[in-house]
Amino acid sequence: MAKNEKCNITDSELCKWLEKECADCFINSMKDKSDAENALENFKVTLSLLPENIDDLLGEDCCFCVEDKQKRNGYAIIDMGHSEPENKRGMFFGLGKKVRQRIGSLMPFSISICRRCKSNFKKLEALKWVSLVLFIGIAVGLCFIPEINAVPALPYGVILIGGIIGYIAGKALSQFFLNAKSRQTYFNVFEIPVCAQLQEKGWFTVQDNNRVTHFLFSKKPMMKKVSELCKTAKEPQEQIAHTTNAED
Ligand SMILES: [Zn+2]
Repeated sequence: MAKNEKCNITDSELCKWLEKECADCFINSMKDKSDAENALENFKVTLSLLPENIDDLLGEDCCFCVEDKQKRNGYAIIDMGHSEPENKRGMFFGLGKKVRQRIGSLMPFSISICRRCKSNFKKLEALKWVSLVLFIGIAVGLCFIPEINAVPALPYGVILIGGIIGYIAGKALSQFFLNAKSRQTYFNVFEIPVCAQLQEKGWFTVQDNNRVTHFLFSKKPMMKKVSELCKTAKEPQEQIAHTTNAED
């Protein structure tokens, strides 16, 4: 039995993905019936752009471990976009936000990450700051030396130099750490094999993507498994039409 006979996309892939009460569902608030159908068509295009093994990203094992995979401790979240489906009205599935034309699909990919890999990301970020704070601290300490303190403006110069050395040392240290830990952890999202497939299919990170990808970390995933939806979306079109008719 259909979840909502009044809705023309009921029980579709989009309906299952949104998993909302009909009263709270944005599809319900659409004035034009064809908007809901367009949203479903667009969503199916998005699904068709995902590799078959996409759910591996949400698996029990860490996706960031290069070898010797550890158990998942949480998720690394990254927004990725795709130019398809062609975005005409700034509306894409479920979110109803205005987006730039270059993005037709937007997904908050959630990727299993272990404690060790997450700690590698955190340490890498911390190294830059620790070094900066350390050297500025040393410089401030030097300013208490009477010979330095006595010369006008010299303390400012010492602190500035401390800051510059701290910044450069922080860069060097994090580079060193990055090289050392690259044998353990993938630091760029597209080094992860499933994500490399996403990139091949045209997905890109919404933010700049340097050697180290910037992730948000979360205990809960921001997306759910989709491979089942991908499979049904590939099935012939009539099936949905047929289901709808059968309910009339
Ligand atoms: Zn790991």
